[in-house]
Amino acid sequence: MAAIKQEQSDACISSAEREQARRSANMAAIHSKDTKPEMIVRRGLWSRGFRYRLNHKRLPGHPDLVLRKYRTCIFVNGCFWHGHHVNLQFDDLQFTISNSECCKIPKTNREFWVAKIRRNKERDKAEQRQLAQMGWHCITVWECELKPSKREETLESIAFTLNHIWLRDHGAKAIPYPGLEEEEQQMPMAAEESLDARR
Ligand SMILES: [Zn+2]
Repeated sequence: MAAIKQEQSDACISSAEREQARRSANMAAIHSKDTKPEMIVRRGLWSRGFRYRLNHKRLPGHPDLVLRKYRTCIFVNGCFWHGHHVNLQFDDLQFTISNSECCKIPKTNREFWVAKIRRNKERDKAEQRQLAQMGWHCITVWECELKPSKREETLESIAFTLNHIWLRDHGAKAIPYPGLEEEEQQMPMAAEESLDARR
């Protein structure tokens, strides 16, 4: 009888341990650099012939993909953490965020989440500004743009933007014209807007 009990409790421990291990593995997967949306972009661009480096440590914001030939950094952003489509306002001496389809702020600890997402958005903006000053174009790809129904269109749109950047850069070299520098500073926004517009 005692032996049976012992066996049962061993079984319980091991199943609890298995559950713990499974959770740890899940958490590790969630925090891993190879999160799914990023892998979709990597595979999609690779299969279209683009080559890149990953998580470039020396560039501001450690862009997910860096395409040197296109002088372009790509960020693959989670819609919640980077506050996709949220409307950030400063009212009555405090920041408020209106929920968007992509980013619903939890009701519990709302202030904490608003502050966190605001900081993330400000940091994203500052890092992209720095990259633009260093001569890099930036493309932001949102998680929601990689849903199965939108995926191909999004990847095509990134490829189109990259080719457009390459043509502009090379065309500009061959036929220099005045005002190029100013125009290049506007490029990252233009590249990002053209991606947004094609969503
Ligand atoms: Zn989104």
